[in-house]
Amino acid sequence: MYVGHFAVGMAIKAAKPELPSLPILLGVGFMDVVYGVFTALGIDRVTPNLKSGPYLFFDLTFIDWDHSLLMAVVLSLLWATFFYKDRRVALAAGIASFSHFLADWPMHNNDLALYPHAQAHLGFGLWGKLGTGSWALEGVFAAVLIAYAWRESKERGVNLLWPTVLLALMFVNLSPWLSPMKFVAALDEPAAHLANGALVTIGFLVPGLLLTCLVNSAERKVAVVPRARANS
Ligand SMILES: [Zn+2]
Repeated sequence: MYVGHFAVGMAIKAAKPELPSLPILLGVGFMDVVYGVFTALGIDRVTPNLKSGPYLFFDLTFIDWDHSLLMAVVLSLLWATFFYKDRRVALAAGIASFSHFLADWPMHNNDLALYPHAQAHLGFGLWGKLGTGSWALEGVFAAVLIAYAWRESKERGVNLLWPTVLLALMFVNLSPWLSPMKFVAALDEPAAHLANGALVTIGFLVPGLLLTCLVNSAERKVAVVPRARANS
């Protein structure tokens, strides 16, 4: 899952607008930021497969050190620890990070181990079962969460137009037709692992930071308006 993770983050932030955006909006992608680093380093193993839809074009052969259930708990605790100074922020950060595993579960093709090197794997496999349909389903999932965030924010006078535009662009960018992974899957090794890892890490870090800026800027506009009115 890609844009769906950020949509979960938008919903968490909208439910708790008093909490800072960054621990939530980077938190939802933290497991994939680690995945990218581990894939580039060769700790994770991925196998190019142009039939592996809807947009990854790789089979996730071994991703246990960042996408097993146990490591999802460990990484979420680690991410929460970065924000230990405020317990509420740490809790939201941890929940945002662990939501990544829960959102990946229905999509992944049985490649989510219980713990590193475990025989038992999770993943309902909607990617494999529905192909392009699973990309559309992710869009619907994201749209519902963004609609919730939009409604909650609007009640406080916050307009989520620009964050929503960014998410829509990301949804189209990682579509079966425009996904850069199709080209990466055709590369030789080690370039395929390096490029796959780099793209995933950048693909969660940069949009996560951008989304944080856009949400903060939308929030700030509301913080300023009542004060301006009070002064006039
Ligand atoms: Zn993931």
